[in-house]
Amino acid sequence: MGKRIYNFNPGPAALPLSVLKEIQGEFLDFRGSGMSITEVSHRSTLFDEVINDAKLRVRRLLQFGDDHEVLFIQGGASLQFTMVPMNLLHDDQVADYVNTGAWSTKAIKEAQILNKQVRVSASSEDRDFTYIPKDISFNEAAAYVHITSNNTIRGTQWSSYPDTGSVPLVSDVSSDIMGRPMDLAPFGLIYAGAQKNLGPAGVTLVVIRKDLLERVPETLPVMLKYTTFATKNSMFNTPPCFAIYVVQLVLKWLEESIGGLPKMGEINKEKAALLYDYLDKSDFYWGTAAKEDRSIMNVTFRLTENTLEQTFIDRALENGLAGLKGHRSVGGCRASLYNAVGLEAVKALVSFMADFERRYG
Ligand SMILES: *Cc1c(COP(=O)(O)O)cnc(C)c1O
Repeated sequence: MGKRIYNFNPGPAALPLSVLKEIQGEFLDFRGSGMSITEVSHRSTLFDEVINDAKLRVRRLLQFGDDHEVLFIQGGASLQFTMVPMNLLHDDQVADYVNTGAWSTKAIKEAQILNKQVRVSASSEDRDFTYIPKDISFNEAAAYVHITSNNTIRGTQWSSYPDTGSVPLVSDVSSDIMGRPMDLAPFGLIYAGAQKNLGPAGVTLVVIRKDLLERVPETLPVMLKYTTFATKNSMFNTPPCFAIYVVQLVLKWLEESIGGLPKMGEINKEKAALLYDYLDKSDFYWGTAAKEDRSIMNVTFRLTENTLEQTFIDRALENGLAGLKGHRSVGGCRASLYNAVGLEAVKALVSFMADFERRYG
């Protein structure tokens, strides 16, 4: 086996090594079929078992019942920026959006492109999206309230969700889905591109409350309607079979090796605390997000001496630590600590950072 390094990429991102090995082990002969999973029909019982097991595991991990439906859709989280207003926001209605960064901004833009009525009920743009707005007043007549639960680029995360009364919450959960337990009760819909915390790029997980399916206009194109995916078990056309298969294995790993989301949440908290504690103790580095709103998934930080940042990233890579460059729109550094990034990876990072500080500080 080639060498594996510590992978802090923001997405596509690290996958559990045991899952990668499982894929490798059954790649040429999937469960005795004599074919690869990439070669079998999506109409076969072999694939049926994969997709149905994946759905069941999503249901068990997030602990919801028959009132929600699990869908697998292509087009990434970005297509959901479009599908959500297209399906759930009628032309005579308004939706509230909270703008907490680049991804929220894009979600708002897509709704506006469709000529939908959007109200930005709160924004943290005034301080460079470094915090999560508090005490927001929402429109009680809104069709939904849209939030971004974790801001991958800025390193902020909602620690608790806003109370929107009877208005359903809709959340882009791309970068923190399954990173901690989540109560689905206030949510009408959540969506997540798989490539951060669930699997490879190419599939998006959507969980929708069934009553919202009644809002979907009949007139929409077939492939853009949630109802098409709900009634056809996400297989109206050929689904991204391989991506769904890997998601299924990652979910199995979460349940059987990690022990579910409460355990995963504890591990993630411990990982993030280790890095944040170090940042807070150091004068050489500083965390960019407001302390009370820090993300446990994406830790954004800077070096007090900005000009050393590229050297830091280069030396880190030479020392087996990859993916520490901040998003191109904000610069700086970022360590993405998704589920598959182990505690030992964070320990290695902190130890490298201390060493770098001693050398250059
Ligand atoms: C990565 C990311 C996206 C974009 O996802 P795509 O699947 O590439 O469209 C959207 N929202 C958040 C919060 C993200 O982290």
